[in-house]
Amino acid sequence: MTRWDQAPEIFSLADELGVGGTAPASSILDYCHRRIDAWVAKAGGVTSIDALESLVTQKLQMVFEEIRTDDDWERLKEVYARGKKEFVFGAIRTKFDDDHNLTYGALIQRRNAGPADIDRFVAVIDCRDNKLARRFFTRWHEIAHRLTTHTDMLEPVYRSEHDPIEKMMDEIAAHVGFYDPLFRPIYQQATEGVPHLKFATVETIIGSGFPSASFQATLFACTRRLPTPVIYLEAALDHKKEVKRRLAAPRLFDVDPPPGELRVVKVRANDAAFKDKFFIPEKMRVPADSVIHNLFDADPMTDGNGEECLSHWESQGRSLGHRAVVVDARKVHDRVIAIVQPVDAARAKAKCQMSSLLGQENTGA
Ligand SMILES: [Zn+2]
Repeated sequence: MTRWDQAPEIFSLADELGVGGTAPASSILDYCHRRIDAWVAKAGGVTSIDALESLVTQKLQMVFEEIRTDDDWERLKEVYARGKKEFVFGAIRTKFDDDHNLTYGALIQRRNAGPADIDRFVAVIDCRDNKLARRFFTRWHEIAHRLTTHTDMLEPVYRSEHDPIEKMMDEIAAHVGFYDPLFRPIYQQATEGVPHLKFATVETIIGSGFPSASFQATLFACTRRLPTPVIYLEAALDHKKEVKRRLAAPRLFDVDPPPGELRVVKVRANDAAFKDKFFIPEKMRVPADSVIHNLFDADPMTDGNGEECLSHWESQGRSLGHRAVVVDARKVHDRVIAIVQPVDAARAKAKCQMSSLLGQENTGA
């Protein structure tokens, strides 16, 4: 399987933006950063992520329309379809109500807008029900589309979330939505002297500068910057492949399916984890003595943490190697989310901080 960042669509997009090359995804990312940095420099700096968002959207001539209740669809119809003769707004709701292919946002280019209109592009953001948690990220995802749109879009485009272009937009949103000059100082202050990344650190960062960002998006912004290995995982009840096959086959009698086992259903490792070959494979059974397992029956939003050994993790008779890890976990809906980090990484980090301190003393002397 080719990686999304090597897909032909990504190469074409980079070409369209005039930044081709062998690493198109990072060239596109740099291109977005350069545009934003230039606007920020011209504005004399920004002090908050909201201020950055308004600066960027103003430059891009785009406005947001949020859908909080079903009445908002009527409002959009009134304002844009009847008022501004933008008829695409009359039928837009259908896409957002499709539960099989979740749509969080759409960017619409107005046909009847003048070249100087501030609402030449309208980003519709669905904030109903569970989609509300993604609001911040969806706004930046739509900004990413606009940042990389040069050709006219006569109709809004809806792609699957697995489409390489959508993955690219998520990548841009994850970077520019946590704009480094704003995020870095808050992150550094929150992680100083803390040996491992903790859920509490993520909450401190949200509270100090990113109040609209979701916990998960902020957590990923942290893991991306963490110089030491970290794995994010989600554990939920899941069946073995052969049981799944049996359950899917038609049966003559209704029999209760066997209970699933708590398994890793999603894993995300940061760059340092890849380099260090620190990994927990998907589908692996969560050991009964893990803090993740203990939390599974807890009430939602209960947290737990502890130190354990990776050798307790096994699947099909094979276990992971001995390695002491710290686990920070939380029960959320039907699953437990967790970050797992090697204990020795803390020592490496301390050493790193120590040498940079010494470095500062040397230059000061
Ligand atoms: Zn999109």
